[in-house]
Amino acid sequence: MKVPFLDLQAHHAPLRAEIDCAIAQVIDAGAFAGGPFVADFEREFAAYCGCEYAIGVGNGTDALWLALLACNIGAGDEVITVPSTFMATAEAITYCGATPVFVDIDESTYTMDPARLELALSSKTKGIIPVHLFGQTADMDPILEFARARGLFVIEDAAQAHGAEYKGRKAGTLGDAGCFSFYPGKNLGAFGEAGAVVTNDARINEKIRVLRDHGQVRKYNHSMIGWNCRMDGIQGAVLQVKLRQLDRGNALRRKHAAGYNNAFRELETVIAPTEAEWGKHVYHVYALRVPERDALLAHLNEAGIGCGIHYPIPVHLQQAYRGLGYGRGTFRVSEQTSNEFLSLPMYPELSTEQVRAVVGAVEEAVAFAALN
Ligand SMILES: *Cc1c(COP(=O)(O)O)cnc(C)c1O
Repeated sequence: MKVPFLDLQAHHAPLRAEIDCAIAQVIDAGAFAGGPFVADFEREFAAYCGCEYAIGVGNGTDALWLALLACNIGAGDEVITVPSTFMATAEAITYCGATPVFVDIDESTYTMDPARLELALSSKTKGIIPVHLFGQTADMDPILEFARARGLFVIEDAAQAHGAEYKGRKAGTLGDAGCFSFYPGKNLGAFGEAGAVVTNDARINEKIRVLRDHGQVRKYNHSMIGWNCRMDGIQGAVLQVKLRQLDRGNALRRKHAAGYNNAFRELETVIAPTEAEWGKHVYHVYALRVPERDALLAHLNEAGIGCGIHYPIPVHLQQAYRGLGYGRGTFRVSEQTSNEFLSLPMYPELSTEQVRAVVGAVEEAVAFAALN
């Protein structure tokens, strides 16, 4: 049985008539760049997250960049984040003229290890970006406590954590600002590029609204140098339809993850993901850890199971960041997991048979291939 890594067609098929209708409304209204469909989505997404404001922007990278700018982060500043993330987290820091400073991740949650923050602190540190990797929040209380005691901003990279929770509160609403991506494959995905910042801070909300639209406070009145980071009207309309499916989709992801976990607990050579007691994991990515990752990947590909690797090279070892001067061996957990992570198919529309097929193929590989 073939199991694709992602299946957006299956996700959109039952919503197709509703989405076609939403797109037709945008065309009829001619509201393509920003406008009422984006404003309606912003209100609905803020309400979903349980916070005051949501600001729609062009993509998740814009969200991070503008959130940093709204917190006055600029040249000469340092922002602490993790190397086990998508490149965009660090890039956004660099765009501001600031320098990313990395700390390693925790071995069980794969998110920022708060105990290591002290090692990365300097007189230039202005903020911290914890990443809610794979759909599980970082341990936010000690991170927030560390930041508050030193007057640092906390901007959450929640691009993989739509609807995830930390102690009953939604990812993105715990720090000064939370940044979301609606890239098509995310738990809440647009029909193209889109992103949002959520915040309870009126000043951050105002500043991002101005920054995303060329620094305009009124038409052709520019109070600062901004950029074009508006969300498309079509994305706002599509996201309103898809937001109504988010909780259902996350519940199904959790069910499939439980199915995987039950099977993989029995296997000695693989480490299944764990859900920390503080949170609700929404499994954007279901990543196993396997020392013989490449052998398992080859076996699963042969069996018709689509897999991914998130991410094969930690950010501090990317060629683009060689100028930062981090060598191999600096962040043991991030480096080891980058060699061991293997992402299995994970989306709401997986059938029980497909989950069983993936489990069967992994078990077969562990039993017969050179995994032991
Ligand atoms: C997807 C993603 C981003 C970037 O979002 P885009 O919408 O692709 O710009 C940033 N951080 C993380 C952790 C992501 O997964």
